[in-house]
Amino acid sequence: MNKIDVSEVKLRYSMKDILERLGIEINKKGFICCPFHNEKTPSLKIYEHSYFCFGCGTGGDVIDFVKHYLNLTFPEAIEYLGGASLSFSEQRKIMNRKRDYDKAKSEEQERKQKYDALMDKWIRLDRQRKEFAPVSQFEQPHEKFIEAIKELPLIEHELDNLK
Ligand SMILES: [Zn+2]
Repeated sequence: MNKIDVSEVKLRYSMKDILERLGIEINKKGFICCPFHNEKTPSLKIYEHSYFCFGCGTGGDVIDFVKHYLNLTFPEAIEYLGGASLSFSEQRKIMNRKRDYDKAKSEEQERKQKYDALMDKWIRLDRQRKEFAPVSQFEQPHEKFIEAIKELPLIEHELDNLK
């Protein structure tokens, strides 16, 4: 890490500079959609050298923002903000790391959604299995019961694979 005065870095860059560099647009009221929690209406207020989210309570200075947004360590964030001292390939490396991180995060979310959907299906079929179970051995099994006992193991197998 280069010898950079941290407080100098904080003052050298405004939040606007940083957001511009990251390609994030600020609305007319000075808010952005918070990248740190899920939201559709912007509730993260941008100040000259700091930010605060009224939705999730996240806040800090330019370094904190860069650190969290790009998922960097403190020295890396300082380095990123150092700008001039950072070569293009180094900047790209940092951006790539951010992209990989985002990708892993969205894959995880996708997996969770799939798991939840399968779980819902399993619960529904399990209920169906109990509800339509034959009462005596002479009774012809209900087609919904057959469907349930056929599909439940398949879903269980898929759930196992998602773990
Ligand atoms: Zn937030």
